[in-house]
Amino acid sequence: MNALDIIAKKRDGKKLTAGEIGEFVSGSVRGDIKDYQVAAWLMACYLRGLDQEETTALTFAMAQSGERLDLSGLPKPWVDKHSTGGVGDKTSLVVLPLLSSAGLTVVKMSGRGLGPTGGTIDKLSSIPGFRFDLTPNELIQQARSVGIALTGQTPDLAPADRIFYALRDTTATVDCIPLIVSSILSKKIAGGADIITLDVKCGSGAFMHSLSRAKELAAALKSTALACGLKLELEITDMSQPLGRCVGNALEVDEAIEVLKGQEKGRFRELCVGLAAVAFQSAGLAGSKEEGYARATHLLDSGAALEKARLWFKAQGAPDALIDNPWSVLPLAPVQFEQRYDGPPAWVAQWDAAAVGKVAMELGAGRHRKEDKIDPSVGIESFVTVGEKVEDGDKLFTVHSRTAAQSEAAAAELMQALRFSSERVDRVPLFLS
Ligand code: URA
Repeated sequence: MNALDIIAKKRDGKKLTAGEIGEFVSGSVRGDIKDYQVAAWLMACYLRGLDQEETTALTFAMAQSGERLDLSGLPKPWVDKHSTGGVGDKTSLVVLPLLSSAGLTVVKMSGRGLGPTGGTIDKLSSIPGFRFDLTPNELIQQARSVGIALTGQTPDLAPADRIFYALRDTTATVDCIPLIVSSILSKKIAGGADIITLDVKCGSGAFMHSLSRAKELAAALKSTALACGLKLELEITDMSQPLGRCVGNALEVDEAIEVLKGQEKGRFRELCVGLAAVAFQSAGLAGSKEEGYARATHLLDSGAALEKARLWFKAQGAPDALIDNPWSVLPLAPVQFEQRYDGPPAWVAQWDAAAVGKVAMELGAGRHRKEDKIDPSVGIESFVTVGEKVEDGDKLFTVHSRTAAQSEAAAAELMQALRFSSERVDRVPLFLS
């Protein structure tokens, strides 16, 4: 069947065979099927949907569109951790060394962010000298010597996802469960890990805004992982407010280091410990989630995860001073503008993650288009969470920017993202599933 027939078949709501899906994916990667045809097919998939068999076939075809990392020879189990993306989500910077400090082999391919959800590679780019262009061979070597290795998306692994994702991003077809599932899981299959821990984000700062949609995505991820022979455990976690204290690339690296040093508690650390606990249980290192929690807490508190992070960052080219004196190497924005609460005692009723992500992006922390350059120094430090009580004069947030005018504009927008209530407001649970 030619590309046109495959597009028309899906446009008319008919089920595609695995062979047709495979042909379409390989034709797209070879360049025989043009971008405008792929875009039309993606829209047909978005509108008509893909059933379980089609989603599994698409995942396999995308995984097979390039190389697959061969981790054999490295100590097992091989683990990977992935998040569907959120505002202030720097979890990988803590969870990867945490998993590796327990003896797990961690090999991960990370992406750049687009829009308000930042990518791990962008955060690590704020560290001078940090390399994220490791070849498959270098990845394996480093995983062998350090226990942990990370790279940006390489042209060789799941190239179909790069093509599809760029087109989805410009054709309003990102928010489609079978396309998200095949995008995430094809990269996981190509990355070679045998245990995957997934953080499915839910709330205004995530792709899935409601718990019912997040649950739908989680169920599709689980069933497709099962069909593909991947061992996947996942959590659905809150993304209705920014995660942790910082949003912005260098700021988030500093915050992750503080968590690794045990200097920062709160929701971000709680998420890291919770996700590590899931991975430990899945890898057989803990008999229950509670045991996994205790193990992860100990690895953080004892400094074992910090020492692993030190080795990892150094192996990938970070300066020695990064851990002990982060701001001697990270770029600090020229202007800091502090906003305090002015009013009678109240509870924080809303701190809208989507709005915070948008402001961070406007400051230069994220990109509107793929080719935009980001400013690693800018962002927002937040000192409140939903359900917290504030008094007159309490710090709400600090904007880090290039100019005072940018800070003032950002602060005005951020004040719109906050809502206060004179009545007590409950804290939002972090783990929703
Ligand atoms: N993360 C991915 O890797 N792909 C998607 O489609 C969405 C989130």
